[in-house]
Amino acid sequence: METIERDVVIVGAGTAGLNAARDLRAAGLSVAVLEARDRVGGRTWTKTIDGAMLEIGGQWISPDQTALKELVAELGLEMFSRYRDGKSVYVAPDGTRSVYDGDMFPVSARTGAEMQRMIGILDGLAEEIGASEPWAHPRARELDTISLREWMSQTSDDQEACANIGHFLAGGMLTKPSHAFSVLQAVLMAASAGSFSNLVDEDLLLDKRVVGGMQNVSLAIAAQLGEDVVLDSPVRALNRTDGGVTAVADHVTVNARYAVMAVPPNLYSRVSFNPPLPRLQHQMHQHQSLGLVIKVHAVYETPFWREEGLSGTCFSPNLLVQEIYDNTNHGDTRGTLVAFVPDEKADAAFELGAGERRRVVLADFATSLGAKALEPVVYYESDWGSEEWTRGAYAASYDLGGLHRYGAHQLTPVGPIYWASSDLAAEGYQHVDGAVRIGRATAAKIVARDAD
Ligand code: FAD
Repeated sequence: METIERDVVIVGAGTAGLNAARDLRAAGLSVAVLEARDRVGGRTWTKTIDGAMLEIGGQWISPDQTALKELVAELGLEMFSRYRDGKSVYVAPDGTRSVYDGDMFPVSARTGAEMQRMIGILDGLAEEIGASEPWAHPRARELDTISLREWMSQTSDDQEACANIGHFLAGGMLTKPSHAFSVLQAVLMAASAGSFSNLVDEDLLLDKRVVGGMQNVSLAIAAQLGEDVVLDSPVRALNRTDGGVTAVADHVTVNARYAVMAVPPNLYSRVSFNPPLPRLQHQMHQHQSLGLVIKVHAVYETPFWREEGLSGTCFSPNLLVQEIYDNTNHGDTRGTLVAFVPDEKADAAFELGAGERRRVVLADFATSLGAKALEPVVYYESDWGSEEWTRGAYAASYDLGGLHRYGAHQLTPVGPIYWASSDLAAEGYQHVDGAVRIGRATAAKIVARDAD
């Protein structure tokens, strides 16, 4: 087995790890990035399936995600806008389908007012608490020990309003049921995107994509790093030494002065730490888990919904398929729809055989967009829960009470070992932008420490 010497070993060639490596190298430190998979990009993955280019993982960029946008430009990549002309579709809890303009669901005046009131409260909390240290706020414990579902039912007796607000945060973002995470966690999610209103506004949140695919960001950085990115090398052990740390991967060992664990927290325990991590980290890491969502891709000969004056944007909080969007590739004559089946609905969908699941999912597409949706030429389900080196989607959040209890410690290095992934970001939390930010911030911390 080859043994190499570097200043910093980075575990994971996702967006965070690659950005950390890029900045460390620019600061004059030598790096090795060890990646378990046979590809870079982690939770961003652009793949051609049955002749269709699909974004299997993260893809959208919002206007405020400036770290990612600047990186995309720096790497010479281009962006394009999501198709959004025409009306959206809403399928109410009673099954009634309606088309509408704007970003407010066509609900009754009372439900609409309740939704606006709850959005106002959540916007106020997000502004007051912020994304960088939600655990430090005087109300942190109070808000972290009540689930979003319980809080919503105490805040409003309008069930449709609660279901819709819950939809944005639970199924739509944290991909866990709203009884499984706290209001503080929901507020962090909202604050990390600027406000709760931003999360509700799909035109803002799902604004742009990278031409050729989001994975190109990681591929471009990996090309710059060359042989310092080593694929097919799951790190099995991180041994702390007098000189720093030794990373033992399947085919290579790296002796380094620092290590960056650029993997989601649910995977930390896949690595043997010698000596073991402190009690606090052992405990904390057991309270961080990934949500679950099936990202469904359906490609059609034409974007038929556009001819009918529809944007392709559909919300149906009570159906298996909760959200649908036009995801047609740049310059493509075919039309692509993407949809999401989150948390407990994903559990139910996975109980079905593949053929039956496809039938049920496409039936939901047809409820929103008509019978033509039943016959895609390409159909594919992104199943990140089955990916050994991810195990869920989109990202990690704490269980009830975990954020205020452990959040302040999640970035504390253990000796020479640092922690960096989008799951731990403040701004851009759970997003590719957050992975860029935390990767770069971690590199800056190591450079500063090294200069001392
Ligand atoms: P990862 O990308 O998970 O990188 C971690 C890397 O570490 C992986 O490559 C993994 O293989 C590797 N690894 C793990 N364990 C080891 C080990 N022991 N040894 C070596 N390597 C290891 N974000 C957006 O901004 N917009 C979106 O539209 C969006 N949609 C999404 C849709 C889906 C289906 C998913 C899954 C995610 C989506 N996200 C989106 C979230 C976004 O993709 C992630 O937040 C981001 O890509 C995470 O980057 P990361 O570098 O922090 O972690």
